[in-house]
Amino acid sequence: MKALILVDLQVDFCTLGALAVAGGDETIEVANKLMDQFDLVVATQDWHPADHKSFAANHYWRYPGQVIELNGLSQMLWTIHCVNDSYGAEFHHDLKVEKITKIFQKGTDKEIDSYSGFFDNGHRKSTGMGDYLKEQGVTELHIMGLATDYCVKFTALDAIDLGFSVKLIVEGCRGVNLEEGDAAKALTTMKEKGVELVEDYTVYF
Ligand SMILES: [Zn+2]
Repeated sequence: MKALILVDLQVDFCTLGALAVAGGDETIEVANKLMDQFDLVVATQDWHPADHKSFAANHYWRYPGQVIELNGLSQMLWTIHCVNDSYGAEFHHDLKVEKITKIFQKGTDKEIDSYSGFFDNGHRKSTGMGDYLKEQGVTELHIMGLATDYCVKFTALDAIDLGFSVKLIVEGCRGVNLEEGDAAKALTTMKEKGVELVEDYTVYF
């Protein structure tokens, strides 16, 4: 059985959001079209407490884009985004949320960030998404969302490690590109790890 994973299609990652990804809004239409083609659709949601330590604002004299050490892990500092229950954490308002069967929230522990929808960045705790998908009999995952070079990439890499067959819907992803070319590099990394890149998503129709 195949499932679609929608990664972080939230207000803050779309146009005018706190951490807007260029072209982020364009992924919503792709998601809406694709959801009908899948028996099971799950979504991840970045869902931070306001005092989350991935926010530069929670550290004295630190700025977004700087990297610190956080509980033994290298941590990129971000602008405040996707604070739980805030407007910015909501799914994009054009997304057909009624088609999502289950939502997995991540980044809920202020001491550790979570790019992947399966585990935190230290692989210390699971969100339960892997077990859930396996219980449903899913073997094949199709992944899209925001952002290519962070949450999409780490979700796809973990999916491979968990033994799923993984396809990435390129048209449904956009990158942060803090460094020029980051998103393209992320695609190469995923491909090398065994993720199949689907360049033309009309193959689903
Ligand atoms: Zn976050």
